[in-house]
Amino acid sequence: MTPPTLATLGSLLPAAGAVALLVRTLAQRPSRPARTGPVQMPVERPAAPARRVRPEPAPHPCDTCGTEITGRETTCAGCARAALGASGPGARTTLLHWLVFLAMMTAILGAGYALAP
Ligand SMILES: [Zn+2]
Repeated sequence: MTPPTLATLGSLLPAAGAVALLVRTLAQRPSRPARTGPVQMPVERPAAPARRVRPEPAPHPCDTCGTEITGRETTCAGCARAALGASGPGARTTLLHWLVFLAMMTAILGAGYALAP
């Protein structure tokens, strides 16, 4: 086969997929039962009981600074942010990660550029 023939066949693949989906959908559709006699109206079932909502706990002080907070948290947003900033990666680590990322992207893009016809 010549490359133009392959390209033409490749462009037909989405259309073939769409036809296959249509055929499958039509095959799975339940057939209508034949109408005989009066139409049966659906019976309305009683509604299911509503879910019980757990009550929100009362406001309580933050474990670290004592600020009053609501919900199920144990520390306030400020203390959580401060703890994350203290334990997160430093600027040197972030710079190292960026340098490794740039080196890898340069290698990948350079290889692609060198190998491209
Ligand atoms: Zn706090």
